[in-house]
Amino acid sequence: MSKSVRSDGRALDELRPMKMKVGVIKRADGSAEVEFGQTRVVAAVYGPRPIHPKHQEISGRALLRCRYNMLPFSVSDRKKPGYDRRSTELAKVITEALEPSVFLEEFPRTVIDIDMEIVQADAGTRVAAINAASLALADAGIPMRDLVSAVAAGRANGKLMVDLTKEEEDADDAIDLPMAIMSRIGKTTLLQMDGVASAQELESIMALAEEGCKKIYAVQKKTLIHRYNADQTQTEA
Ligand code: ADP
Repeated sequence: MSKSVRSDGRALDELRPMKMKVGVIKRADGSAEVEFGQTRVVAAVYGPRPIHPKHQEISGRALLRCRYNMLPFSVSDRKKPGYDRRSTELAKVITEALEPSVFLEEFPRTVIDIDMEIVQADAGTRVAAINAASLALADAGIPMRDLVSAVAAGRANGKLMVDLTKEEEDADDAIDLPMAIMSRIGKTTLLQMDGVASAQELESIMALAEEGCKKIYAVQKKTLIHRYNADQTQTEA
């Protein structure tokens, strides 16, 4: 699977060029910036800390409160600022993708806030946000079972491929399957799909996504190791 049929010259199983940095927001407890090609996201973590409003308190664990926001200049036509139905839905799926990775039970009655800002969007923003949020949680020193790594795979123009751009996602026959996994533990925490696939296609698309997640996991780990060993904050792949 190496011959390129993609408009940006990538192989079907090749991720977009990645950049990851941690500690980018000085005022947050943890933060990260992640780029996949033209998709760019910044995530900041605050907490664990006392929760307001207090009625949201959960007696046996921390509340993971995620916000996903697409900035007005992140897309080609200026987007109306603020949260909308889509951002509310994405905050929910991102929360569910991250929750299994955090030892929330160690911090009862507190909140961990994660703010994710999409600075530039070219598809795959939910998975980029998950990668950044997981790095930001680790950067904040919050105890975790594993990092969460995420990518979408799917179909465009008759070919199965990983890490689709917006142009590929807009193909007539597009399938888009965002997936998040904890690689070390081998657990899937997000699996969604747009489009119609045969059982065989589904199997191949999931394999492409899983392979992509493992590559992302390696870069995430490298980014954290750099940060704490050499104080070098950016990793490119
Ligand atoms: P994801 O970004 O996780 O792939 P979607 O499938 O909902 O989520 O969106 C795909 C892409 O469509 C986004 O990454 C972005 O490039 C574009 N997009 C989403 N919402 C808007 C919007 N309100 N205006 C313009 N483009 C948008």
